[in-house]
Amino acid sequence: MPFVPIAVDAFVDLHSKSNPEVDPLDLRFLLNEALEARRNGETCDCGEPIWVIGSAIARHACFTCITGEAVPDGDYEIVDACRGADV
Ligand SMILES: [Zn+2]
Repeated sequence: MPFVPIAVDAFVDLHSKSNPEVDPLDLRFLLNEALEARRNGETCDCGEPIWVIGSAIARHACFTCITGEAVPDGDYEIVDACRGADV
């Protein structure tokens, strides 16, 4: 898994520091919602599993469809989603 795994709390702290306009409670809610969707097997329009962090910030879609890049390069993903579908 090429993503850098990160816990929800750690990502909320990190993202809030560089994006002070974002409400940490909103972000946490959206992350948990996206994680739930991922756990329920939600996939992107292209068929790939959704990227939880990108889905919380942008829209429910996979890494490639959100960023336009083929593979993650030091990008974060919530640790529970990195473990696979059996979380
Ligand atoms: Zn996609």
